[in-house]
Amino acid sequence: MPTMEIDREKPVCVTGATGYVAGWIVKRLLDEGLTVHATVRDPDNAKKLAHLREVEADAPGTLKFFAADLLEPGSFHDAVAGCGVVFHTASPFQMNVEDPQKDLVDPAVQGTRNLLDAANANPSVTRVVLTSSCAAIYGDNADLQQTPRGLFDEEVWNTSSSLEHQAYSYSKTQAERAAWEMADAQSRWRLVVVNPSLVMGPGLKVHGGSESFNIIRQMGDGTMKAGVPDMGFGVVDVRDLAEAHLRAGFVPDAEGRHVISGHDTSFPEMAEQLRPKYGDRYPIPKRTLPKWAVWLFGPMMNDALDRKVISLNVGHPFRADNSKSRAELGMEYRSLSETMNDFFAQLVEHGEVKAA
Ligand code: NAP
Repeated sequence: MPTMEIDREKPVCVTGATGYVAGWIVKRLLDEGLTVHATVRDPDNAKKLAHLREVEADAPGTLKFFAADLLEPGSFHDAVAGCGVVFHTASPFQMNVEDPQKDLVDPAVQGTRNLLDAANANPSVTRVVLTSSCAAIYGDNADLQQTPRGLFDEEVWNTSSSLEHQAYSYSKTQAERAAWEMADAQSRWRLVVVNPSLVMGPGLKVHGGSESFNIIRQMGDGTMKAGVPDMGFGVVDVRDLAEAHLRAGFVPDAEGRHVISGHDTSFPEMAEQLRPKYGDRYPIPKRTLPKWAVWLFGPMMNDALDRKVISLNVGHPFRADNSKSRAELGMEYRSLSETMNDFFAQLVEHGEVKAA
């Protein structure tokens, strides 16, 4: 198992600290006793930051908030100043947007460039960990057929997404490409990339804005009562993903991209995990919808589920190779059942789903 070498003298920076994924990263870093420079859009919004202050109160580390916006040049400089490792998680994660260029691609790409400008300008920075995505590896499950090994791995890049089709995946691909370009143009800091699949598991609080919560909520609020499409996914637990970030930041030899995905699974299998404990009280989907039904009704239920997305993803499996993350970062992954049940328990506890 590779060991981490954590320099506790230098602060670290986490961008987008209010986010679902970032919350656990901030907690893990504070638990290590580090000083965390957390960037948020509005440091005066005490309500939005309360869960992070609570985590700080129970941890040996110190939390400092900095205002930064992805779209504002120069906005990350103060937060990055003096930091050794920078974790860049901020990026919009939404499926239904009005203007994909303005709402997804600009903040993802310009934000990454702005952040890396700050890394270039601050000599203390030795490593940048970028939260990319498996979405930068593949666009549709059907892309699996074109991969050299019949698996999504670190060698594969998403070439099928565009502004018109799978715009979120396109934004993540463009952002990661921009990051590698800037990393390759210098030699002081090392870029280490994590490429998570769909993130599930309880947040530090209920992060209603993240698509991850929409998916689990819809499995319990009746939206998917009629059934779920047979659509393949990779899933990783948010707590395991935080661990992957720490290792990407502090394992001395970590390099390149890393598929961070615990399980090759599907919507029906994800729902199946919830049925033993919750199936009698909540409308957890029991059926797999035939593809023709998804084709007919999917676009009416969800703007992101258009006919092209359906034909290239429904009935197609997802298969990824996480062996690099296990070998080089020492990753181990929680069971899918633990992830799904802990996540659903959080929604029950907070009244986000109602028992029948
Ligand atoms: P999230 O909860 O929506 O977090 C997104 C973060 O980005 C928030 O902190 C948000 O700040 C920030 N952000 C968005 N636009 C911004 C802007 N213009 N300026 C500054 N900050 C901005 O989503 P998440 O699920 O945690 O995603 C975090 C990262 O993980 C993203 O890079 C996402 O692509 C990646 N990822 C997520 C998944 C998944 O399944 N969740 C899978 C693979 C990769 P506000 O709170 O101010 O809006």
